[in-house]
Amino acid sequence: MAEASQCSFCGRPKGDAGLLIAGLDAHICESCIEQAHEIVLEESRQGQEDGPADNSFELPKPKDIRAHLDQYVIGQDAAKKTLSVAVYNHYKRVLKGGVDDFEIEKSNVILVGETGTGKTLLARTIARILNVPFAIVDATVLTEAGYVGEDVESILTRLLQAADYNVEAAQRGIIFIDEIDKIARKSDNPSITRDVSGEGVQQALLKLLEGTKVNVPPKGGRKHPDQKFVEVDTRDILFVAGGAFDGIQRHIARRLNTQVVGYGGSLRRSEIVQENFLSAIAPQDLKAFGLIPELIGRMPVLTFLEPLTRDTLLRILTEPKNALVKQYTHLFEMDGLSLTFTPEALELIADKALEFKLGARGLRSICEAILTDAMYELPETVEVTAEMVEEKLSKTDGLRAA
Ligand code: ADP
Repeated sequence: MAEASQCSFCGRPKGDAGLLIAGLDAHICESCIEQAHEIVLEESRQGQEDGPADNSFELPKPKDIRAHLDQYVIGQDAAKKTLSVAVYNHYKRVLKGGVDDFEIEKSNVILVGETGTGKTLLARTIARILNVPFAIVDATVLTEAGYVGEDVESILTRLLQAADYNVEAAQRGIIFIDEIDKIARKSDNPSITRDVSGEGVQQALLKLLEGTKVNVPPKGGRKHPDQKFVEVDTRDILFVAGGAFDGIQRHIARRLNTQVVGYGGSLRRSEIVQENFLSAIAPQDLKAFGLIPELIGRMPVLTFLEPLTRDTLLRILTEPKNALVKQYTHLFEMDGLSLTFTPEALELIADKALEFKLGARGLRSICEAILTDAMYELPETVEVTAEMVEEKLSKTDGLRAA
């Protein structure tokens, strides 16, 4: 056995090496142990990153998908449940790869709910859970081929970009089509001139939704500068469409053979009515609203989001994994400073978001308005109180106008 006179790894003499641990034929000093430990950690971390995530596709069960959603999205129980099942079925079908005798149909989804209630957030979170590419497109910018605007195929360019031009990954990605209600037919009588913004776009979307091979211009793709078109098969792409469908509760009410009450009445009453009617939404209401039956048929999963209440807004401020309050507190902590909110301040922020009718999106701009001065001055401690909220917001008229 070697003399315990020096570290066998770095050669440091016993006197400088601190603790020297003896092995069979060698000795190791404290700092070499630490370094070796770091290497082990680094290796195992890399092992996890390069691990199965990219190649084998792990499909969580609906309950697991739901549990993940709960970490980021507050409330919206009905939408979460329906979406978890739709996503599970969709990817189960994708994983089967069409070996069955019969074809399982796609589970494209329509989410109906006011703006800022979490439609995009739900779709984005699902994509993150499954680690698949995700792209958002606004239905209002789409036009039929040949018209000024973006062809529906541009949707696939976005997805391809999100997938970093990995076609295979893109082909099992998720596309969120926002404001699908804005391409509804305006009246039941199709006009003689072509309806550029509405029905034509719905028609153009049909093929994509169902599954087709499309030659997509990668447009501005730096990775393949000389590649003109990339063929993308949309068969396994999950489409989630969202829209506010303003006024659809009238159609639902008519179908249910009841009267919409509460318009012009107290806000509370009309809110409740609206909520109840949305929960009864059915495909024929979308048709009455102006979506063509073929489109509705290709998006067979239909669910709704509830309007955000004061209580939901309050929870959105603090509960999600990346809740605003957590984000701001963390920002301050990074400078070694402390930021706290009193419960009254949080309640007032939720009230203001309701009052300004900005939904959950408004929480962010309200917090920015409250904290800009503090984030500029960076004092040791900041306690956001109800008075502070009032004072800061009274100076920002812009919010009210927003
Ligand atoms: P929509 O697509 O319905 O218009 P978003 O999903 O874009 O609304 O929501 C806007 C923002 O509001 C999101 O980024 C999120 O921070 C917040 N938000 C909305 N609804 C919820 C919710 N139910 N739970 C948590 N955050 C929400």
